[in-house]
Amino acid sequence: ALTAGIVGLPNVGKSTLFNAITNSQVEAANYPFATIDPNVGVVEVPDHRLDDLAKLFNPKKVIHTTFEFTDIAGLVKGASRGEGLGNKFLANIRETDAICEVVRCFRDKDITHVDGSVDPVRDVETINLELVMADLETVDKRIEKLERKAKSGEKDAQEEMAVLTPIKETLEAGKSARVLEFDKDEMVYVNQYNLLSIKPIIYVANMGEEDIENPEDNPYYLQLKEYATNEGADVIPICAKIESELAGLDEEDRAIFMEDLGIEESGLDKLIRETYHLLNLKTFFTVGPDECRAWTFTDGMTAPQMAGKIHTDFERGFIRAETYSYDDMMTYKSENALREAGKIRQEGKTYVGKDGDVMFFKFNV
Ligand code: GDP
Repeated sequence: ALTAGIVGLPNVGKSTLFNAITNSQVEAANYPFATIDPNVGVVEVPDHRLDDLAKLFNPKKVIHTTFEFTDIAGLVKGASRGEGLGNKFLANIRETDAICEVVRCFRDKDITHVDGSVDPVRDVETINLELVMADLETVDKRIEKLERKAKSGEKDAQEEMAVLTPIKETLEAGKSARVLEFDKDEMVYVNQYNLLSIKPIIYVANMGEEDIENPEDNPYYLQLKEYATNEGADVIPICAKIESELAGLDEEDRAIFMEDLGIEESGLDKLIRETYHLLNLKTFFTVGPDECRAWTFTDGMTAPQMAGKIHTDFERGFIRAETYSYDDMMTYKSENALREAGKIRQEGKTYVGKDGDVMFFKFNV
């Protein structure tokens, strides 16, 4: 399963946020595959399209798609030099597909900051530098292996050195590898290094309760936003404390509390949606009187591979897919009307799925 790692300095609110995540965790009955690792929280991805389809089909069950958050506690300065449990944390980050970096923006003098003051940009640079240093070690090791071969004229080694050199320069300048762009051939090499500072990142500005209605009034949030914008990254303002309270409530009380707070969507739901995008995931739907369900697939997947998301037998025995788009269903309101309008397509093995497709798979068992 795809996973986003929650990282941040000590005392910035990671555990509080992770509690909110585990409190709002999916019911295991609907997701038998869901892990029981205490450091992992499986979340449902809110998607109004699934809700809209459910209104038309009125199914017994509505099942959202999911992904995982992993709590990677304890990243500190010096991690890349193996200080503390540094190496273990870096290894944990290496296993994630994206990074959610929690940054302290709340003012509360009773809660100590490890570096003495609230300063989101300094904090982000502290953590990002650890990732950069770890990557530099990875890249240097690889260069050491290749250098002689490249000098003696080996083509492959030369080609790879041409990919490694700008990465090394970027890292040495203290910048994350994600600022670089690579073409398809270069990516074949880059993927092998499994760099940390190249992983997609989203910043979570952990704000005080007083800031939640107007995040822009908090200067720390603005500083973080400016930094992130320069990197091309997003910032989600959240109050972890409120989120953990919200997550513990039933639906009705939640709605009342959110209205009191003057918010329409919980910060956690926003974070889940944005992280889903960050993971570069797409969604298709299966619909019917029993169940309407959202499924995750990745860009470029073909119809049989999408069928394989449901069951490996569906992929193996794939014959064809009947499909229409969510948008068309919203226009025509029923499958009969879609059929009459010629909006239901028959697609074969080479069909590449699109976000928002509704699919019926025909297969041999
Ligand atoms: P971690 O070390 O990053 O996991 O941080 P914790 O989640 O344990 O939070 C550290 C302290 O900050 C705890 O005492 C939390 O109650 C407090 N805290 C977390 N979020 C907020 C917040 O939004 N506002 C305030 N005032 N305190 C918070």
